[in-house]
Amino acid sequence: MDAEQLREYGHKMVDFIADYYKTIENFPVLSQVEPGYLRNLLPDSAPNQPDSFQHVLDGEVAQLILEFIRLHIQAKILPGVTHWQSPNYFAYYPSNSSVAGFVGEMLSAGLNIVGFSWIASPAATELEMIVLDWLAKMLKLPEDFLSAGQGGGVIQGTASEAVLVVLLAARDKVLRRVGKDALEKLVVYASDQTHSSLQKACQIAGIHPENCRLLKATSSTNYALSPEFLSETISQDLTIGLIPFFLCATVGTTSSTAVDPLLSLGKIAKSNGMWFHVDAAYAGSACVCPEFRHYMDGVEEADSFNMNAHKWFLTNFDCSALWVKDRSALVQALSTNPEYLKNKKMADSKPAKTWFLMYSGKLAKLVASQANMVVDYKDWQVPLGRRFRSLKLWMVLRLYGLENLQCYIRNHIKLAKHFENLIAQDPRFEVVTPRIFSLVCFRLLPVRDNESHGNKLNHQLLDAVNSTGSTFISHTVLSGKYILRFAVGAPLTEEKHVNAAWKVLQDKATSLLAESL
Ligand code: PLP
Repeated sequence: MDAEQLREYGHKMVDFIADYYKTIENFPVLSQVEPGYLRNLLPDSAPNQPDSFQHVLDGEVAQLILEFIRLHIQAKILPGVTHWQSPNYFAYYPSNSSVAGFVGEMLSAGLNIVGFSWIASPAATELEMIVLDWLAKMLKLPEDFLSAGQGGGVIQGTASEAVLVVLLAARDKVLRRVGKDALEKLVVYASDQTHSSLQKACQIAGIHPENCRLLKATSSTNYALSPEFLSETISQDLTIGLIPFFLCATVGTTSSTAVDPLLSLGKIAKSNGMWFHVDAAYAGSACVCPEFRHYMDGVEEADSFNMNAHKWFLTNFDCSALWVKDRSALVQALSTNPEYLKNKKMADSKPAKTWFLMYSGKLAKLVASQANMVVDYKDWQVPLGRRFRSLKLWMVLRLYGLENLQCYIRNHIKLAKHFENLIAQDPRFEVVTPRIFSLVCFRLLPVRDNESHGNKLNHQLLDAVNSTGSTFISHTVLSGKYILRFAVGAPLTEEKHVNAAWKVLQDKATSLLAESL
């Protein structure tokens, strides 16, 4: 790493990224390339020599990076990019970027540490603990989730990893109680609106495929899991000798932002000795606002809680915050202690305090991991290595502060309400489920009540809108109906972008309806 080269490349690359944000609306928000487009543009194998090695030898580093940006990034990569940071991006859920998140990510890349244990970079572990305590307090999580007690927070890459690690912790906890041969009797419960990452976690954890109960949620509960249905199903499973052990509830489902009733579900989980996980990957961010916090009521019953700061909280991907009440459950399921990671050897019999007294300075620090005096985050996750992700979250919390973050969320929700009002004024459309946060689920009404034609029509509308490149929305299916999803949450989105997207939707609807007459 040549410091001067870094300075020049870094400045040029930051200039390029800043220009990209300035001109982001000039790109088609959804990439319009065909599959395999890049194969035709790049050689079959990597070059033996750098492209313009002579430039480096001549000290023309700036020239080299500029050429690289022009010849490769602008010409070959950008056409194949779907612009998640575009203000015209309304698909799936947002994945926010911000100046604070960006420079935090930059610093993390610059330091490039691998903080698997405390000693591998004490600042990385300690900042992560502190920042997750801060965020837990912002969300008014119960104190049991804070690091001062038996619990604590950890940054996972994604919500999928979060649900996997807590499922593994719960599985091993119950197997220690009932015996490890009972694996095939273990049952997991959730609604059929739960993110597919739970199903993937069950596959990885060896849960029998038939024992992953995805209970049907209907429009009668606005697609929330019914506690009565859950209780009945658990009772039936118990009578045939199965072992209920894990319940996953969601605050803000992916399809329609349904909110499961945490309090009643949590009580059912508790009375059956089950682990209760709450997935608030998207909507957790909104719960830092007092007026939305009630959607998390009942979280006191949970064993674990997850929200993605990388979705709607201005923290660049990836940053998924997970809290547990009992960190030892995670550690028991996931820890290994190979020789090559051990710190200073010490006799097991001596209490940690004695060792601290015996060793001073550096050595005292070296024994800390083994004396269980510190957190070793390698034991809270699947991989060993881990990035310094807390830097970007810390910078977001410090540089924006709670009040600005609340305003940010409220503004998106206001824009989503505005979109909802626009739909209400056009009798050809309907809002399908009540809007709770910043997602609006809507559709073009079927002509002459023909539902199957309605599904085709909305599919065509989605394709027509997205192929313009001027806006990007996505879809889901609820109770057999093809639904369009309009998720407001990109940092640069303003009312004019919402209006422009609505205009495209209306125009395309007019053409499609004329064709279908
Ligand atoms: N849970 C919910 C409610 C989600 O909406 C999503 C993604 O949108 C996930 C989990 C999975 O997120 P990740 O990509 O972080 O694994």
